Amino acid sequence: MKIDVLETSALMNVAMRPDFVAAEGRGSWLTDHRGRRYLDFVQGWAVNALGHCPPQIAAALAAQAQRLVNPSPAFFNAPAIALAQRLAAAAQLERVFLCSSGAEANEGAIKLARRWGERQRAGAFEIVTFADAFHGRTLATMSASGKAGWDRLFAPKVPGFPKAVLNDLESVRAQFGAQTVGVMLEPVQGEAGVVPAAPDFLRALRQWCDENGLLLILDEVQTGVGRTGTLFAFEQAGVRPDILTLGKGLGGGVPLAALLARESVAAAFSHGDQGGTYCGNPLMAAVGGAVLDAVAQPDFLAQVQARAAQLQTVLARVAARLGGTERGAGLLRALVLPQPIAPRVVEAARQLPGTGLLINAPRPNVIRLMPALNVTAAEIEQFAALLDRALNEVLAAPLEAPVGEAV
Ligand SMILES: *Cc1c(COP(=O)(O)O)cnc(C)c1O
Repeated sequence: MKIDVLETSALMNVAMRPDFVAAEGRGSWLTDHRGRRYLDFVQGWAVNALGHCPPQIAAALAAQAQRLVNPSPAFFNAPAIALAQRLAAAAQLERVFLCSSGAEANEGAIKLARRWGERQRAGAFEIVTFADAFHGRTLATMSASGKAGWDRLFAPKVPGFPKAVLNDLESVRAQFGAQTVGVMLEPVQGEAGVVPAAPDFLRALRQWCDENGLLLILDEVQTGVGRTGTLFAFEQAGVRPDILTLGKGLGGGVPLAALLARESVAAAFSHGDQGGTYCGNPLMAAVGGAVLDAVAQPDFLAQVQARAAQLQTVLARVAARLGGTERGAGLLRALVLPQPIAPRVVEAARQLPGTGLLINAPRPNVIRLMPALNVTAAEIEQFAALLDRALNEVLAAPLEAPVGEAV
């Protein structure tokens, strides 16, 4: 059967996608079906921690695929045991549940908090979450999210997620009641446009949770595994969560996520409370091990910090020229533009003559950068040049009505 690569109508139309088909990737570079090359600062939505098709992941997949792919979650397997031990030691949270997506890890975090509330807090089940938060696309994680408009989608919503305002402890306190079991947040709100939680705020939340016997749940699906320059973002604030979720970078591009918890919290789960056919399968766990090996190399995180500083300098220079700002943590950064032209810059960058540039606009005035953690200094310089060209093109054109959000 001959396949027309641009005949896409058999796929459910659930996302606005440009008319190219990703064909191959290598490091920071993606090639489409026409052989056109792009410098990729989207990287599978911040999942390709080591860039496209890193040899370590190919080797881990190939080796494990020939040994054991899935014995079922009813039996232990060595890669899952090893990965769980390493994650538990690194996060200093004793128990790990491996799964396949960030939403699944967060769904598990919510279930664990509710189970703990049932056993330890007389049935308390409410988890305070935040305006503009993003926790995934299952029914419960959509309810936990605070994306504008989502509160009206797929009614009836899952109840139990009162909303507070990031970096405003009073707004959190205002949601506290007899049914409160914990608070859940991202150390940097990624989908909201890369908005960091202040370290002081995280410390104050930790203290508030301790004073009231509540669980602090951190969603590090986007910020975890080196993205912000430390293995976990929470290290930079000096707080430790009771429940932690990881995803994206943990699998370096393959479906792998994790739910971690303190022993005393994890003990709330009974047999049968949580599981899934693919949860803890050795094929993906082996990849997670390979990613952790790379991130644990002596110089790896120092390099992330150095590249982050370089990217920050580039963005600050552009921001100063345009009258905008830049923000973020590590290699999760955003350029905030003074006008709502970010979706047009994304389009212009992709279509630049010669080499294209892939970037993302989580908000009409925000461009988000999430390059591979092993991006090179030369690639960041190339990024700067390509971004300048795309911006100049858009700024030279008359300002039209902004195009829709390209999320
Ligand atoms: C991407 C993301 C999720 C959802 O992860 P999926 O793997 O897409 O289900 C949850 N939380 C945060 C902070 C994310 O960035």
